[in-house]
Amino acid sequence: MEGIKKALASLFLVVVCSSVLSQTSSTIDYTYWRFDLSVQDSLLKGNVTHHFKVDSSINSFVLQASNKTLNIDSAIFHGQSQSFSHLNDTLAIQLSETPDLTNTDSITIYYTAKATTNFQDPFVIAEHNNKPLYWTLSQPLVAKNWWPTHEPLDDKADSVSFKIEVPNELTASSNGLLINQKELDSTTVFSFKHKYPIPAYLIAFAVGPYQIQEQQINVPYGKLKIENYILENEFSKFREDATFGLRSFNWFDTLLNVPYPYLNEKYGHTQMLRGGGMEHSTNSFMGNFDFPLYVHELAHQWFGNYITCSSWKHIWLNEGIATFFQGLLFERFYDGELWLQWKDVTRKSILRKPDGSLIVQDSLNPSRIFDTRLSYHKGSFVLHMLRNKIGHKTYFDALNNYLNDTALAFSYANTSDLKRHFENSCSCDLTEFFNDWVYGEGYPFYVIEWEQNGSVLSLDLEQFTSHESVEFFEAQVELKLIGSQSDSIIKITPESRLSSFEIDIPFAVQKIEFDPEIVLLADHEIVQKQDVSKTFVFPNPADESLNIKIGNPRGGLQEVEVYDLTGKLIFESGELSNFRNFSINTTAWQAGVYIVKTTSNYGIDKTRLVIQ
Ligand SMILES: [Zn+2]
Repeated sequence: MEGIKKALASLFLVVVCSSVLSQTSSTIDYTYWRFDLSVQDSLLKGNVTHHFKVDSSINSFVLQASNKTLNIDSAIFHGQSQSFSHLNDTLAIQLSETPDLTNTDSITIYYTAKATTNFQDPFVIAEHNNKPLYWTLSQPLVAKNWWPTHEPLDDKADSVSFKIEVPNELTASSNGLLINQKELDSTTVFSFKHKYPIPAYLIAFAVGPYQIQEQQINVPYGKLKIENYILENEFSKFREDATFGLRSFNWFDTLLNVPYPYLNEKYGHTQMLRGGGMEHSTNSFMGNFDFPLYVHELAHQWFGNYITCSSWKHIWLNEGIATFFQGLLFERFYDGELWLQWKDVTRKSILRKPDGSLIVQDSLNPSRIFDTRLSYHKGSFVLHMLRNKIGHKTYFDALNNYLNDTALAFSYANTSDLKRHFENSCSCDLTEFFNDWVYGEGYPFYVIEWEQNGSVLSLDLEQFTSHESVEFFEAQVELKLIGSQSDSIIKITPESRLSSFEIDIPFAVQKIEFDPEIVLLADHEIVQKQDVSKTFVFPNPADESLNIKIGNPRGGLQEVEVYDLTGKLIFESGELSNFRNFSINTTAWQAGVYIVKTTSNYGIDKTRLVIQ
């Protein structure tokens, strides 16, 4: 499979046998990874063959290979053992001959990998029923812990195969179809073949005392083999609800109208003892069988596996979309209460901090790549806002076109590809939306002041932003006006930071509720106009920084003081010349409850603040 290829030598400059390998502008196209392995006594032994094509001569072959867990025995190229160095998690093989430039060539690396006992590690040994259990989990950049790999997301191999020999009491599970199972004296050899393009991080195997739950289900476009590897004696508590598959595949079809990408092979799950799930192609590894996790990992088979983010910088394309399907599950299969709850919990998680873009700047940092608040929660909530903005049908038409884009199918996409498909579908320009919510950081904070004279409701909306990367968020604000006998929802679209509206309302408004359907990523305060000295503190709870705003547009802060609950003064701003807002760095503050006292030209206000 062609991908976005980078010049090999521009990535690495490696010293082998005291000579510097020459730079080359050739690209390597990985076509097929063939594993021939055995597992016993915490060790993985055997070889992996990298089949590849090059468009010009190369004299070295560089792979990622952990120095902690991998031991490289030899590298065989054209039948000859090659010299290599294995330093700093890099395996650099000096080639004694030029690879074939017209056909596919291959290099085989013999190695051993040691399993470790921490469940979060990439290659784990655990125990079930006093029998060993192994599994791998390579995302994002740790396939190198169990095989000499090509890890960067710049080329998918066209296919992968596994031959794995295990003790007779154990069963192996991997990507694709089990094509052969051969029992020897004390071992069994399992052979799997997956004939679809795949990047290194989606390849996995597990070996353990598994029982296989198999069924065939009718899905749109054909029959699909479902194959679940469940640990022995766990069938009663760890099994797929027989209806999950049918319900999800049919539901996905009504939304996406694009066949399951691996229909010719299978879909299945393999039980692991680590929590959560991992969407290995055709075979998600699962810590539980909850319906939301089931749906999340299944969604990845389209969004992540079939179309993969082009680099970890764009991980929200994988995780944001899969997480939004989890949310949509609550809209579709459960009552409205859980859907509202999902939106509320997701938004609260994002509002905990004032910053963070969906685009990952530090794309080598796994904790940023998989930051739940940003890649999962903000990613899914921004898609929820987008669906609300352009409409359900237009949103899913765009995803249908995205999945049918032949340049992306079984290949890679970046954020601008998804944006383009949404814009084509809605015939609208989403630049502003993407700049604010996808590329930009933070969220709007609305201070809404209101009063009613007769039937005229006057509203002043002032928007502050939690991060300086966005000056103003263009967004429609929904307000629920609640009276004693009736209520009404109004939608207003402020066009500047401070906007005033006068609306005729035929009942006495007693209370205003902000964004009742939870469709806007925003924080807010609502105040009746007579309460002029009110100040607002956000985020609250806070951890790193704190913003203090005065609600009244004509108000100005003259002093800010913060006290702990014993009355001790923790922070003092000194005299301020009628500031509209004021920020404090709270990184050094201890977790606990504080009182923020503000003095403005309208008087004194006190707010309870929680530092996490
Ligand atoms: Zn995921």
